[in-house]
Amino acid sequence: MALSQIAWMDGKIIPLEEAAINIFSPTVQYGHGGFEGIRFYETGAGPAVFRIQEHWERFFSHTAQELAMEIPYSADDLTAAVIGLIRATGMREGYIRPTIVYPEPELGLRFQQKKVSVAIVLSSWEKKLAQDSLAVKISPVMRNHPDAVNMRAKVTGYYQNPIRALRDASQDGFDEAILLDSEGNVVEGSAENIFLVQKLWTGTKALFTPRKGAILPGITRGTVMALARAEGYIVNDCTSFKASNLFLSDEIFLCGTAMEILAVTAIDGNMIGNGKTGEVTSHISQLYSDVIHGRDERYLHWLTLVNS
Ligand code: PMP
Repeated sequence: MALSQIAWMDGKIIPLEEAAINIFSPTVQYGHGGFEGIRFYETGAGPAVFRIQEHWERFFSHTAQELAMEIPYSADDLTAAVIGLIRATGMREGYIRPTIVYPEPELGLRFQQKKVSVAIVLSSWEKKLAQDSLAVKISPVMRNHPDAVNMRAKVTGYYQNPIRALRDASQDGFDEAILLDSEGNVVEGSAENIFLVQKLWTGTKALFTPRKGAILPGITRGTVMALARAEGYIVNDCTSFKASNLFLSDEIFLCGTAMEILAVTAIDGNMIGNGKTGEVTSHISQLYSDVIHGRDERYLHWLTLVNS
C-alpha cells in the first residue's frame, strides 16, 4: 500500500508530510475524528470515482453529525478536491481517504475548538490481501454495542475494537476476524460486511446478510444487494444468525470498499463449501468488477469521471 506523496488539506494540495496536526489535539488524544474510504477505478472513459455521493452522505450525515463537527466544505467542494488530487498524482486507480480532525492542541473532554480540518490522501491499495480467499476466525472481541455508538458513523475511535479483533486473528494465523454482537449474532468483519449463500428447499440459492442495527451498513453491501436482486437472486437483509449458521452455508463472502468482494473458504479451521470461491460469489464478484470499471451501462450513474 503506497500513499500518494501529496495530500489535499484545507483547500490546498501539499506534500504528504505537511498534512499534520498537533499531537495533543482531541482527535489524537480521544479518537474524536472521522474518515471515509472510497475507491476510484480505470474505466473506458478514464479514471472514475465509485459511488462518491453515497460516501459523502455517510461522511456528512452520519460521521460529522455524530461528532458534532461542522465540515467547512460542501460535498461538491470535496468531490472537486478528490478529482484535483487524482489529476495531480496521475493515478488511474486507487483508494481515497478523506479525514476530518480537530487540529489544535486542547486537553480535557469539553473541548471548545471550532476549527475542523479536512484532509484527503490517495493510496494505491491494490488489494487488501494478496490471496483470493480468506481463512477467518470467529473473534472473541465483541463488536461495539449499537446502544453505545452510532454504527453508521466512521468515527476514528470506534476502530480500536476491530483493530483488536484483527490483531487477535492475525496472531492465530487467520486472515480476518468475524465479530459477533452482545447476543452472539454474527455482525461483520473488521471493516467488511458479510453475506451467506444458502440453497433453499426449492433448490434456488439465496443471499443472507445481517440486518441493520449492529452493523455498519456498507456501501458495498448496498451495491451487492442491488446487483444480486437485479440478477434475480433472493436477498434477505433482515436476518440475525449465530456463528453455527456459518457452517451450514454453501458460500460466504466479505465485502467492503477496501477489500471489494472476497470469499471466506474456512472458518476456525473448518472448510466452507468445497474450500474454493463458490459459484455465486464469483458471479457477484464479476458483476461488481464490471460495474466499478464502467462496463455495465445500467450503473454508470454510480461513477464520477475524473476527466469530464
Ligand atoms: N463495516 C465496517 C466496520 C467498516 O469500517 C466498513 C468499511 N467502511 C464496512 C463494513 C464496509 O463498508 P463500505 O462497503 O461502505 O466500505
